[in-house]
Order: sequence, then C-alpha cells, then structure tokens
Amino acid sequence: MAVLPATAANISRCAQTLRDGGLIAMPTETVYGLAADAANARAVAAIFETKARPQINPLICHVASPAQAFDLGQFDAHARRLAETFWPGPLTLVVPRGASCPVSDLASAGLPTLALRCPDHHVAQALLGEMRGPLVAPSANPSGRLSPSEAAHVAAHLPDIDVLDGGICAVGLESTIIGCLDAAPTLLRSGGIEREKIETCLGMPLSDLPKDADSAARLAPGRMLQHYAPHAPLSMNGEIPDGDYLVLGFGPGTPANAAENLSPSGDLTEAAANLFGCLHRLDLRAVAEGKSIVVSTVPSGGLGDAINDRLKRAAQR
Ligand code: AMP
Ligand code: MG
Repeated sequence: MAVLPATAANISRCAQTLRDGGLIAMPTETVYGLAADAANARAVAAIFETKARPQINPLICHVASPAQAFDLGQFDAHARRLAETFWPGPLTLVVPRGASCPVSDLASAGLPTLALRCPDHHVAQALLGEMRGPLVAPSANPSGRLSPSEAAHVAAHLPDIDVLDGGICAVGLESTIIGCLDAAPTLLRSGGIEREKIETCLGMPLSDLPKDADSAARLAPGRMLQHYAPHAPLSMNGEIPDGDYLVLGFGPGTPANAAENLSPSGDLTEAAANLFGCLHRLDLRAVAEGKSIVVSTVPSGGLGDAINDRLKRAAQR
C-alpha cells in the first residue's frame, strides 16, 4: 500500500477499488478522508473496522454536486440555500433521508437522517465524478486520534491503505455541520465555515445543541466521544502542567522559544490550516522527549470556535 501521486491513472485505479468494495484515502479541502462506496454495506462496515470507529457514530456522505445530494435527502428551503451558497465547500448538511436513498443504513448508524457534503478538492471531485453514487469518507485516522491534513499522516497511521496525494489540506479543519431537520437550523459541529457566514446567508441565528448530554448526543452522535487526541498530554487556557512541555503558540505575542506557531500574524484561517500539522509534529516530538504540549490562547469567534473545539477535545483525557 502506498502514497499515490494524484494522476488520472491513479484516480481511476482508486475509483475501481471503490467500485469493487475496497477502501482508499482521498484528499479533501478539510482533512484526508477514508473513502468507501456509501451504498455498499460491507465496504461501509470495513470503514468502521479500519478506524475502530464506534458504530453509533454515523458517517458523512460525499457527493459530486448539490443535485446528487438533493436526490439522496429531503432539503427544505434553508438546506437548499446553504447547499447552493457553500457547496462545494466545508459544510455538511444533515437532512431527512430521501425515499429511495441507496446509502447503507450502517453509514447513518440507523438514523432516519443523512449527513451530506460536496467537497471542494479537485481530486475528491475527480473520484466522485468516476463513481455513480456517494462516498462515505470519515477522517482517515484511527478513531479518536488526530485528523490527517497531509498524505504522510494517513500513511503513518493507516499503513495498509492506498492514499491519493493531494497535498496539504487547504482548510485543515473538518466541515461545519448544520442540522436542517425542523424550523430552526442547528449548529451540530463548528468547522471550516464560520457560524457568522452561515447566519448571514440564512438571515437568522443558528440554534445550538441542547445543553443536556442525552439530547445533544441524539442530534449529534459522536460529539460525546473522545476525539482529536494526541498521544502526549495537552493543556490549554493558561493551564501549566507539571514537568517539561512544548509550546504551540498563536499570533505575534508568542514567545520566541515556542516549538510551533499556528499563525505568526494571528490569522485564524492560517491557524486552522496549520492546526493538525502542528499537532502531529509536536506530538511526535513530545512523546520522544517525554514532554507535554501547552497551547496558547486562540481567540473565539469565526474559525477560532472550531479551532478551540478541536483543542478542547484534544485536551480531554
Ligand atoms: P466525521 O467524523 O468528521 O466524519 O463526522 C461525522 C459526524 O457527522 C458524526 O460524528 C456526527 O456528529 C455527524 N453526523 C453524521 N451523520 C449524521 C446524522 N445522520 N445525524 C446527525 N449527525 C450526523
Ligand atoms: Mg474524524
């Protein structure tokens, strides 16, 4: 198994693997995805097995176009407007399943709803163009661990999987997920498109997940699971651990001896794109040197919300 340059021949070879029920890893603008034919229940099962992903955690279906998504799910006016505005792009919409939707029930963990996204990466688009139907593609990492933002991360953590090399992911954070299931669209996960942009598009505020854990877990399964964990302990929000640590800085105020800086100029888009790459490098070094990781404060608002969400969950033990 190998890292494959994303030539037309390799893309076609990977499309054939997918049609045959196999798995490959593909670049998207968010993170690298472990892809399978969404309609093939055995292939979908192999995704859960390869990632050791809990089967209660549903997968996102990737489509070539908004039109393909409209055939798979029931889009109300809000969902349609968001799809038409932000696709292709890092936005996932959760909608009721369509009547004759061929996606395996396992992909959506038995829920009557479906998560759909049209990715904005030419390699993902080329692969989808060669497939007739949607691809499920959760991040190509063992469940709970750091997401891969370059092909080498996939090769290091899932060495048995062929990965199409599409370079470093431009957005670097998973998609924003919006539930469009009743009157008020709900923010199910912050991600690569800022909440503010979605609210401007809709002309209304998004609802938030309910505070009680059971209701939140029903609406956004997987949110409660451990996620994005480096091997080294990580602390944030000014907490200083015992023992030696490496600093992951943000912005121009970062001390010169910091190990990495998410964005020297304090730009949140750059910080998002660098987040997982910095964490992968720091984690390797911290484990080798017996240290932990301390992250400087990243401001909230815009992409800061998604970055802080990932860091908060990376800090959970
Ligand atoms: P990822 O792990 O980045 O592939 O994202 C998958 C996440 O999408 C899951 O953990 C869920 O939170 C969300 N998701 C997928 N399908 C659904 C669905 N049918 N209903 C609600 N959330 C979903
Ligand atoms: Mg993931």
